[in-house]
Amino acid sequence: MPTQRIVVLAGGIGGARFLRGLKSAVPGADITVIGNTGDDIHLFGLKVCPDLDTVMYTLGGGIHEEQGWGRAGESFAVKEELAAYGVGPEWFGLGDRDFATHIVRTQMLAAGYPLSAVTEALCERWRPGVRLLPMSDDRVETHVLIDDLDAGAPARKAVHFQEYWVRLRAGVPAHAIIPVGAEEAKPAPGVLEAIAAADVILFPPSNPVVSIGTVLAVPGVREAVAAASAPVVGLSPIVGDAPVRGMADKVLAAVGVESTAAAVAGHYGSGLLDGWLVDTVDAGAVEAVEAAGIRCRAVPLMMTDTEATAAMAREALALAEEVRA
Ligand code: GDP
Ligand code: CA
Repeated sequence: MPTQRIVVLAGGIGGARFLRGLKSAVPGADITVIGNTGDDIHLFGLKVCPDLDTVMYTLGGGIHEEQGWGRAGESFAVKEELAAYGVGPEWFGLGDRDFATHIVRTQMLAAGYPLSAVTEALCERWRPGVRLLPMSDDRVETHVLIDDLDAGAPARKAVHFQEYWVRLRAGVPAHAIIPVGAEEAKPAPGVLEAIAAADVILFPPSNPVVSIGTVLAVPGVREAVAAASAPVVGLSPIVGDAPVRGMADKVLAAVGVESTAAAVAGHYGSGLLDGWLVDTVDAGAVEAVEAAGIRCRAVPLMMTDTEATAAMAREALALAEEVRA
């Protein structure tokens, strides 16, 4: 059998952990990851790409396992020294080892390299075993519209996604999610080509709004996925009507989508998805998803370890073959 070309649209933790299982399930596959860069933020003059780094560190063996993001064996001397100068934000965790990644990235960007080339260079060290592409070389920044409680009269303001997610812990109502710059962004080199050439396209259990939704918001990407000859199969990040981890329910509410496995499938829609996996606890949702024109199976979807995750990847690939037939 020829090498299978698999394209995965990924956010951070959910995407990265799934990819580790996928690599283990199909060690010979040619995997291209299209990573979300809407979470990117400039801090202390440095360009930070949290989702790309989570994928790179997880697959490259440098991730802080329990935390799911950042480096293992991290120290925080630089952050402490910055705080001693009164320089923040103090709410964003950047360790010393992680700082080095952002320094290298920022230096290369300043020298004129596009983010895709920089990411490739960083991956020469980490050897993630996949081709990691940013969704775009252009700047896209997810902003969240929230109530402005400091204003005298009722008013709203947009804050950077990281401020909403990390500083405010999604604890204030979000009225809209805006991928600023997306409309003018172009897919990074290789993105559309990889989608067109794929044998299978997978949506891992990443955040449907601020991870996969942002990748799909880059003009041309959604259209390319919809037009691809490859089957498109997704795995639900919602299990038992709640996100397995994090606060995806809050951003789903902001776009008017219920936090259920079936509602997320409907949000992507049969125009994009050919197949959808829900957890066994959500077996009752299978019928509704199939009625919406998306082939659906209920299988265990908890990424407790690499073997359990590899089994999820095998189920996703099996469903892809089923819809192809
Ligand atoms: P982020 O960028 O770090 O937030 O990561 P992603 O967008 O890639 O993934 C976040 C999503 O992963 C959350 O909505 C979680 O519900 C989901 N997730 C995390 N662990 C698991 C798991 O074990 N199983 C499933 N099905 N989803 C998970
Ligand atoms: Ca993210």
